[in-house]
Amino acid sequence: MTLAGDPGGAEGAGLVSAERLARGPAAGVSGVSGEIRSKIKGIRAGHKRTWQWQMQNAVTTLEQLEEILELTPEERSGAERALAEGFSMRMTPYYIGLASKTDASCPIRRQAVPVSAEANEVPGDLTDPLGEVHHEVAPHLVQRYPDRCLLLATDRCAVYCRFCTRSRMVGEGGGAVSMAALAPAFAYLRAHPEVRDVIVSGGDPLAMGTDRIVRLVAELRSIDSLDTIRLATRVPVTLPQRITPELVRALRPHHPLWIMTHFNHPRELTPEAQVALRRLADGGFPVMNQTVLLRGINDNSGTLETLFRGLVRARVRPYYLLQMDPVRGTSHMRTPLATGLRIAGELQGRLTGIALPKFIVDTPGGKGKVPLVAENIVRRGEGVTTLRTFRGEEVDYLDPPA
Ligand code: SF4
Repeated sequence: MTLAGDPGGAEGAGLVSAERLARGPAAGVSGVSGEIRSKIKGIRAGHKRTWQWQMQNAVTTLEQLEEILELTPEERSGAERALAEGFSMRMTPYYIGLASKTDASCPIRRQAVPVSAEANEVPGDLTDPLGEVHHEVAPHLVQRYPDRCLLLATDRCAVYCRFCTRSRMVGEGGGAVSMAALAPAFAYLRAHPEVRDVIVSGGDPLAMGTDRIVRLVAELRSIDSLDTIRLATRVPVTLPQRITPELVRALRPHHPLWIMTHFNHPRELTPEAQVALRRLADGGFPVMNQTVLLRGINDNSGTLETLFRGLVRARVRPYYLLQMDPVRGTSHMRTPLATGLRIAGELQGRLTGIALPKFIVDTPGGKGKVPLVAENIVRRGEGVTTLRTFRGEEVDYLDPPA
């Protein structure tokens, strides 16, 4: 996407900063990450490397992390704990290269670097908050709704996000699940034509090799009853180099394929990410985004407005704003429900409908998603409901006569 009047450098190559992407051609703001980039030149060089290089050179040890960031005592002990007993640590040079070297409150850093608070457990914390183990209908296949299934194809990701709902299994070391091990899942889908939609997740399916992804998608596409195949992936955020022309060409014959991605902060909408999103959109993939509300990272309407506007400009539909699941050891990253309701209300009046995601709670225990809009319903009476508009006005909505 080249914008009129772009300066040189990355923007001159047709790539724009997240804020600029969000504000549009007239805004004329400079890139957001110049300060960060100058501090981490060594890691920054990794931006130009291939996705395979990024995967092979992922940061997985405390020593590597100490070379890149000035860690706080909480981060150092969090990393030690994660490596010894907790949810593994892993980040691509590209993604951690977006982080501030010195500021532990940096939104990139907080999503990727473990902290000691991960040892805390609070009432309501769950290892498997969506009850996926309980809802497994075949090995690696979860069914929580009559028409949809979730296929867990790998335990590997480019980055292990500290808020991950599947921290119970991600990064265990198994890698891509073999096609033979997935055979019972394919058999279940063939035997249950009421399932119309499969979400391929993990782990991150696009962290697998291209041949492996294509074999999996081709097998799913051969099941006539499936209308929709969705690839749930965070690589446009954490490893955008993975979205190569070769990958797009290999997947295109299997359309319709939907991409469900996961941008949480405008700083993630880098020039590299924009190239990846452009390739996907040009390749005919509808791209939808699910943002998780994260305390101190994106829990204000200004940050989210910038993110959602930027996504729409990159031809990505903001689909869900998710209340964070109560994953064990993540209470320091969760917001109260009231925060999300307030933010959703503030965004309602500011954003066009295509930039406005639904605010969703995925209820604990795998009982399903609930869209939260209750604050807009002031009262309900016989044949009349009073709604609150984004301007705060109360308006009666009359039901038709019975
Ligand atoms: S990419 Fe997805 S599955 Fe992997 S750690 Fe992040 S949130 Fe979890």
